[in-house]
Amino acid sequence: MLSSPAQAEFYQAVEEVLESLTMVLEQDDKYRRHAIIERMIEPERQIMFRVPWADDNGVIHVNKGYRIEFNSALGPFKGGLRFHPSVNASIIKFLGFEQVFKNALTGLPIGGAKGGANFDPKGRSDAEIMRFCQSFMNELYRHIGPNTDVPAGDIGVGAREIGYMFGQYKRLANSFDGVFTGKSLLWGGSLVRKEATGYGCVYFAKYMLQDRQQTLQDKQCLVSGSGNVAIYTIEKLQQLGAIAVSCSDSAGTIYHKSGIVLATLKQLKEVQHARLSEYISHHPDAEYTPVADYPDDGHAVWRYPADLAFPCATQNELTAADATVLVQNGCIAVSEGANMPSTQAAVEVFLEAKIAYGPGKAANAGGVATSQLEMAQNASMRSWSFAEVDEQLKIIMRNIYSSARDTASEFGAEGNLVLGANIAGFRRVADAMIEQGLV
Ligand code: NDP
Repeated sequence: MLSSPAQAEFYQAVEEVLESLTMVLEQDDKYRRHAIIERMIEPERQIMFRVPWADDNGVIHVNKGYRIEFNSALGPFKGGLRFHPSVNASIIKFLGFEQVFKNALTGLPIGGAKGGANFDPKGRSDAEIMRFCQSFMNELYRHIGPNTDVPAGDIGVGAREIGYMFGQYKRLANSFDGVFTGKSLLWGGSLVRKEATGYGCVYFAKYMLQDRQQTLQDKQCLVSGSGNVAIYTIEKLQQLGAIAVSCSDSAGTIYHKSGIVLATLKQLKEVQHARLSEYISHHPDAEYTPVADYPDDGHAVWRYPADLAFPCATQNELTAADATVLVQNGCIAVSEGANMPSTQAAVEVFLEAKIAYGPGKAANAGGVATSQLEMAQNASMRSWSFAEVDEQLKIIMRNIYSSARDTASEFGAEGNLVLGANIAGFRRVADAMIEQGLV
């Protein structure tokens, strides 16, 4: 592997998966004969396009748009769109690659893809967001469809952006169909989709703890991020009797020892789209650490003592130094709401310490699984109740956990859910690719 490849995040994700697959590749020669690895690391199709748009002052901006359709062996391409200034081909490729394994692990008929743009929605008016989304869709609409590629949200893409993109798709394609998930409940969305990634990540932690004769009751939990995944992780933790004591955004970290007040967090982030630093004006007993005061080798949020950790912001937000402090402070489980939030060195610290570690591609698969339930409801023109979807979500998370755990045991790596998740996801996709011939 190159020491500093141009597509660093993509190489990081591929390297982690390939390391886990050594045993399965040695065990069965068919994967080598069918060049499965060579085919799997190459996306089926990569679309890159310019997104020109005018701001409220008439100034023209041009962003880079991406859709990477990675693998459709198991079903239509499926994966979110991310709008964030850090977006580039490496980040979208890593996310698309991870998505293939994650979607396979759900056991549902969905392929893997990811997309987005290096657009920064922060500080933009609704009219600017709408013009950007419409311009983005002017190109993307020709590549997607309910049976070909079904995008959803991710960082910077929530209900508002999905509404604007769906509206433009409907106009251009002249079709009202289930081309997006994460839609508004008014026009085809599913109950629980908004909550699904966070809730699923907590269910995953609950199942890991159950096998260790532990529960979530009264556990102190560190959560990073303050977006969709973090908010609904905190909500479910509170419902199950745990105490979420932190959250963060790209400017800083809040630590609230008595427990994050969810109503304040939702008001600041979902209604006002404000900075998290404002939380302390409502709760002066909480602590705020700005990014400038973070330790040089990591993130302030992981330096507080806690029983459990839920990284829910972004990739590589938890370093080996952070992981070491978490373990020293007695952390017994990590369940990842974000995609690849722990660096490879941090993952090694968790595995060596033998704490329960749920990698993102397993622990955060509840979002995409519920997206598939949204597709099923759209296709049958029915809507299921909150309880019905939530029950399905629990079953899917339980199955993902058991599949990763049992596959790890099958390969003599008891408790190593990274290896278990990678092999379980790989076998499903690889076997489907072989059956479908050389495509
Ligand atoms: P949101 O945009 O709702 O929230 C993202 C949060 O992470 C915000 O608090 C944001 O802070 C913070 N953040 C983003 N980028 C950075 C950065 N570079 N440095 C520090 N903080 C950052 O996104 P989601 O909650 O939807 O997504 C969070 C993670 O979960 C991502 O890794 C995503 O891929 C993953 N995920 C999401 C799913 C979903 O259903 N939404 C499904 C599966 C995985 P700020 O507001 O300051 O930028």
